[in-house]
Amino acid sequence: MASTLPAATGFLAAVQCDGGRSPGAFPAPRGADPAAPGAVFASAGPRAVIKARPGGPGLDAVLLHSGAPDAAHAHRRGRTVLLAGELYNRDELLTLLGAQAGPVTDADLLLALVDTYDLHAFRLLNGRFAAVVADGGRVLLATDHAGSVPLYVSAVPGTVLAATEAKALRTAPVGRRITAARRVRRLPGTHQVPAGTVLEIGVATADCTDHRTWAPTPARRIMAEQEATEAVRLALDRAVRARTGPDTPLVVLSGGIDSSSVAALTAHHRTGPVDTVSMGTDLADEFPQARVVAEHLGSAHRELTVHTDDLLRRLPHAVWAAESLDPDIIEYLLPLTALYLRLEGPGRRILTGYGADIPLGGMHRENRLPALDTALAHDMATFDGLNEMTPVLSGIAGHWSTHPFWDREVLDLLVSLESGLKRRHGRDKWVLRAAMTDLLPHETVTRPKLGVHEGSGTTSSFSRLLTDAGVPGDRVHRAKELVVQHLFDRVVVDGRHPDEVATADVVQLVADALEHDAL
Ligand code: ATP
Ligand code: MG
Ligand code: MG
Ligand code: MG
Repeated sequence: MASTLPAATGFLAAVQCDGGRSPGAFPAPRGADPAAPGAVFASAGPRAVIKARPGGPGLDAVLLHSGAPDAAHAHRRGRTVLLAGELYNRDELLTLLGAQAGPVTDADLLLALVDTYDLHAFRLLNGRFAAVVADGGRVLLATDHAGSVPLYVSAVPGTVLAATEAKALRTAPVGRRITAARRVRRLPGTHQVPAGTVLEIGVATADCTDHRTWAPTPARRIMAEQEATEAVRLALDRAVRARTGPDTPLVVLSGGIDSSSVAALTAHHRTGPVDTVSMGTDLADEFPQARVVAEHLGSAHRELTVHTDDLLRRLPHAVWAAESLDPDIIEYLLPLTALYLRLEGPGRRILTGYGADIPLGGMHRENRLPALDTALAHDMATFDGLNEMTPVLSGIAGHWSTHPFWDREVLDLLVSLESGLKRRHGRDKWVLRAAMTDLLPHETVTRPKLGVHEGSGTTSSFSRLLTDAGVPGDRVHRAKELVVQHLFDRVVVDGRHPDEVATADVVQLVADALEHDAL
């Protein structure tokens, strides 16, 4: 199956001294073979077992792949590269390697770059990936600039385990404390590799050194209006092109400026068809606004209505996929989870407008510039670990999602623009709106921001579920936090399948606990 998806979208890898045991050698959930379908990942899709014995510590891995697992790993002279995800600046990267026969796969390319630049290769990449490099006695664990493919690690002397889902490490031996990385709730010794970071770990000792490969710039650039809008248009156009494969792309479209921009640029550079899909509930939708865009672009458009009861039943699935403990993030991701689960196979390449509001201050609904830059600095300092961009969200339904607004070049540009270009002429996200005026209807370009959690009624229906269970109005947010924690404990820590976890039971448990607590 030649695929429009990346060769691999996830992995569980073990690098071990003494020739190595297979990843199955640490106690697997319910004694299952980790290579068995469904054993460890929320992400759907076939698994392949990889064994590399380069001399020195061996690497064993279970790869979650899309039909060509051998394209996701590369080996040379005792060095092995494993890559989940994809690179978006291949052409640039290839220029660094001179005239030698060009690497074919992204994994080959990464291996060649590591041969030349060692771990500094990761400073060069614009991509959506998590990677493992086994190299003699050390292991490199690397995230992309945004940590958009989550990566977890558990290391003891002699064994380094790494996985793209925390639940895959739930039965791992208790790992050493890694001070450079965030601990995972109730999984002792399991850590999340920070965004834009390479962890360099000695296999024999489990000693770890961290190397930052990206950080959001704190400086702001001054540009004339036209220069700024042209720069945004060019960067976003490149990001969209790099993310569209040979097959018909699918854009998840709300009719807001972010997803409409992505849909418009996708349609603009393609001669072939573009698909769009919009999600709503019985309580709320943005169908009319999305339809305006779909008609303007001539996309093959679908509307999917999810009943609110079904939406809320998917809360365990959203937590299972995102492995996030932030109730606000789960509220944003829940409608998308429900949408992805309704998209039948085969696996699609999905583009979203997700993430634009962070660098553009889109959530910021007032005119004062200092507050916009303060919010932006805060959001850029705290996004890591929320797993907002995780591909597992669509991966549970066998799809691959990618977010052009968090392309490294787009993000660097948007973050750096002085805030007066973001809030201007009384509009939010002005520079993006101005950049897109020729490709979208006027009403779309000027449409005020509406969050996905608002447009689908998710926030209000989740709140309602809690107040109906007896949670006082002023404790609803706390209750949401507790619900998400309980769900995390069940579907990540305890490894249960979300179909076995009832939202209603967890909500009642939390409501009762809060009532007790209040007495
Ligand atoms: P704006 O932020 O200006 O409202 P937007 O709606 O495109 O623009 P968000 O509301 O931040 O962006 O939502 C994030 C992303 O999630 C969207 O860009 C889109 O890809 C997807 N999305 C949001 N709402 C829907 C929906 N109702 N149906 C399908 N996809 C949606
Ligand atoms: Mg948005
Ligand atoms: Mg919106
Ligand atoms: Mg938005």
